[in-house]
Amino acid sequence: MTRLETDVVVVGGGAAGLLCAMTAGARGLRVLVLEGSNRVGKKILMSGGGRCNFTNTGTGPDNYLSANPHFVKSALARYTPWHFLELVERHRIAWHEKELGQLFCDDSSKLVVRMLLDECAQAGVRVETQAAIGTVGVGDDGRFELDCRLGRVQATRLVVASGGLSIPSLGASGFGYRLAEQYGHAVLPTRAGLVPLTLSGKHQERMDGLAGVAFPVEARCNGQAFRNAMLVTHRGVSGPAILQISSYWQPGDELRIDLLPGHDVDALLAGWRHDRPDAELRTLLAEVLPRRFAQRLTEVWLPSRPMRQYSAPQLREAATLLRDWPLVASGTEGYRTAEVTLGGIDTREVSSTTFESRRVPGLHFIGEVLDVTGWLGGYNFQWAWASAHAAGSAF
Ligand SMILES: Cc1cc2nc3c(=O)[nH]c(=O)nc-3n(C[C@H](O)[C@H](O)[C@H](O)COP(=O)(O)OP(=O)(O)OC[C@H]3O[C@@H](n4cnc5c(N)ncnc54)[C@H](O)[C@@H]3O)c2cc1C
Repeated sequence: MTRLETDVVVVGGGAAGLLCAMTAGARGLRVLVLEGSNRVGKKILMSGGGRCNFTNTGTGPDNYLSANPHFVKSALARYTPWHFLELVERHRIAWHEKELGQLFCDDSSKLVVRMLLDECAQAGVRVETQAAIGTVGVGDDGRFELDCRLGRVQATRLVVASGGLSIPSLGASGFGYRLAEQYGHAVLPTRAGLVPLTLSGKHQERMDGLAGVAFPVEARCNGQAFRNAMLVTHRGVSGPAILQISSYWQPGDELRIDLLPGHDVDALLAGWRHDRPDAELRTLLAEVLPRRFAQRLTEVWLPSRPMRQYSAPQLREAATLLRDWPLVASGTEGYRTAEVTLGGIDTREVSSTTFESRRVPGLHFIGEVLDVTGWLGGYNFQWAWASAHAAGSAF
């Protein structure tokens, strides 16, 4: 069997793996990236509708979900969105800010993958695709030994950057979790995050025919609130506000939607009754909500009458419904369409500065495989870059 020696093996040629490899390579280490699929950076290519929302200028620890919320602080503070932006600008990639600090490429996500590969090439990193790993063990000399199509690879450092479970068709695998468990690490339960919600039974029937309707809402669940667009789909609801809140929702949890965020709904209804007493609620709601949705609201949840016929308590009830519309979701669309995986390798057994395992010297975990999940809006890539940079600088 062919034997190959190197300093660092990085498993996974995604966002975190490539940035870690180029960082370690630039410091003079021999680095080999083993990517299981036929192409590196597939999620980068898919991201941001093909324009890669590569970071968020407002990134902070509060934008992440983890059982260990302090874990992200060190890496995020040491490698900020401005560091990644400096790299993007050095490679002359044109970018723009969309909203809420989200930075996107002007042209194509391909440029980000090209940038990472160019940096790897310059740092002498060897990148191999279709290099799925068989077994991983530790040899007599304490070095890691991996079998793949290149033969037996020996390395003093093993970096697991194999990502989460979302979108299996893009190369996602449970490799990192299995390896972590093999070495005694706890893996916290995983589930789909940043994912459309599904409705069923009467809750789906009530939304029948509304697919495609989108409007700004505030989605609330378990003490979190996100103000952005909601989109009705054929199976349920999606759009940024729903994707965000999906990470905080589990079946059975109460989910409420403010259908008119930014409006003083009590004042709005009182004003309508005073100024337009003969107008029907349905007609007036259609001025502030999509017409089809306003119509459905008044068919299912709110009786529509001329405004003068509403008593004060009835108006208060209507205002409560518009502010706290109950959305009864049955589940999520799952990993097939989820942008991220919640849960993962328990960070309490990983160093927050070097990302080295506290159980196995030389073994590092970075990126999404860890129990760290960002909000929608560039936070997940920023975590991939920051954790990768911390590990790549630590060897
Ligand atoms: C459709 C979509 C759009 C997204 N858009 C954005 C966005 O705009 N902004 C943002 O911040 N985040 C976005 N995300 C989330 C972001 O892509 C991930 O959080 C990020 O890619 C995680 O980086 P990672 O390197 O940890 O994992 P990944 O990028 O998933 O990389 C893991 C790599 O490991 C490889 N691999 C898996 N198992 C093995 C194995 N056994 N052997 C070898 N290789 C293996 C995989 O093929 C993959 O290449 C999006 C996600 C999706 C699915």
